Amino acid sequence: MARDWLKGAKSFYDIVVIGSGLAGMTAANLLARFGHSVLLAEHHYNLGGMATWFKRRGGHILDISLHGFPYGMIKTFRKYWTREMADSVIQLKGIHFDNPQFSVKTTFDKVDFSRILMEHFGIMKDVIEDFFKTARSMNFYDDIVMTTGELFEKFFPGRKDVWRFLMEPITYANGSTLDDPALTYGIVFSNFMDKGVFTYQGGTDQLIKKMKKELLKNGVDIRNHCLVEKIHVKDNAVHGVRINGQDIACNAVLSNSNLLTTIHKLVGDENFDPKFVEEAKKVRLNNSSCQVYMGIRKGEKIDYVGDLLFSSDADEYNTEMILSKNVTSRTFSFYYPDIRPGTNRYSIVASTNAKYEDWASLDDKTYQVEKNRLIEATLNSLEKYVPDIRKKIDHVEASTPKTFKRYTLHPSGTSFGTKFEGLKVSRDLPKQISGLFHSGSVGIIMSGWLGAANYGVIVANEVDKLVRSMDSKKELVSASV
Ligand SMILES: Cc1cc2nc3c(=O)[nH]c(=O)nc-3n(C[C@H](O)[C@H](O)[C@H](O)COP(=O)(O)OP(=O)(O)OC[C@H]3O[C@@H](n4cnc5c(N)ncnc54)[C@H](O)[C@@H]3O)c2cc1C
Repeated sequence: MARDWLKGAKSFYDIVVIGSGLAGMTAANLLARFGHSVLLAEHHYNLGGMATWFKRRGGHILDISLHGFPYGMIKTFRKYWTREMADSVIQLKGIHFDNPQFSVKTTFDKVDFSRILMEHFGIMKDVIEDFFKTARSMNFYDDIVMTTGELFEKFFPGRKDVWRFLMEPITYANGSTLDDPALTYGIVFSNFMDKGVFTYQGGTDQLIKKMKKELLKNGVDIRNHCLVEKIHVKDNAVHGVRINGQDIACNAVLSNSNLLTTIHKLVGDENFDPKFVEEAKKVRLNNSSCQVYMGIRKGEKIDYVGDLLFSSDADEYNTEMILSKNVTSRTFSFYYPDIRPGTNRYSIVASTNAKYEDWASLDDKTYQVEKNRLIEATLNSLEKYVPDIRKKIDHVEASTPKTFKRYTLHPSGTSFGTKFEGLKVSRDLPKQISGLFHSGSVGIIMSGWLGAANYGVIVANEVDKLVRSMDSKKELVSASV
């Protein structure tokens, strides 16, 4: 008989959180701390969503999305998780760009970027300062008047090399391009420029274990292997969910599942205003990724070549080429023993942006051939920086947009949620159906570890307000009876 993953679950929770990405977990933790009963339902056997890892024979632990996040993550860990997590954040100081236009090393912060823009690219100090000020002052409530391409053209006309320096890491970090609204660039770029790039010492496995412990301590009922199939709506209000075929009642649902899945599949278009459904249909998904994971044999070492390496053979920055299956622009993340102190192990993960269609359309045999081609191309590229890499690895494998789709259920395996217009649709859900909330990678700004976790906090506060108001209404009714 199939195992009952909901065994012992209650028939009612104040809030059901669908999905344990960083937004879902952060929101669940906060809502439990506020005193609500919370069920966290995750379809996968693990927690973390994209913030995850896997183990392979030979003692390898390979991280999926622990490449770098902005300094702001320290505050998010401290305020909404624990001080211990905040104290485990360390800076990555060796960021390396290597392409036909330039080869530079940076600590990836405002001071160092300004220096490189002046010394290497010959940009005037006043222009640089004005650019940073403009990027920093952008916020969500601004009118969207400019694209990132137009912003660059304004400050650095015709300087495709400068555009590449400023844009390539952000394209990698959140899938945004020159055609996206400049404010999505300004916010994310400024977050990084604040103090540089940071990572979690201990690795994703340690972080997620600590998060699980904290969630349990705060009383969250965590259920893995639990697929939410439906969000039940009646009279424009949420009243429950169906999980693994079982109905559970609740006052509110916070969905960390993909925005479009939440609307079209979990709730169903028939429950929304048709105009809203039309708006939702216009929301574009962001792109997906491919990765090649390389485990270094026990006892082998690699010399320090930097923490993050943006490597490319392309003549200039070009969105189509970055998304193409024949991409040469890839980011190498080097994990030295410092990341998991005491293990004395090394690993390397290469990531590229990718389009789902390019991989989903392949038959099984061609899919394997193409994955092997991706691995070979990655090793060839890496040999330039670590010449004897092939002798040092004893595990290598690749993932594609199909892999991301399978594990996270995101349509087209989108790595970074939706394009900008998704944010408004996500924010408008509770106006359509009382008790229905969404949080997670969306709108470019709310993606990445920091964006997703902070969006979880924002939405958790809104859920708390609603559920409290429902509780106080009930108290008033019972007092008057
Ligand atoms: C290759 C790659 C590299 C990245 N690198 C970085 C990086 O270096 N720095 C950075 O800041 N960000 C990075 N990111 C992005 C970052 O990992 C994500 O933006 C963030 O983790 C997303 O969190 P989320 O809350 O949106 O949820 P997700 O991680 O998308 O998780 C959603 C969860 O919901 C679950 N779920 C969905 N539907 C259901 C359902 N119906 N029932 C039950 N469960 C369901 C899924 O299984 C999943 O666990 C990277 C992403 C990728 C793919």
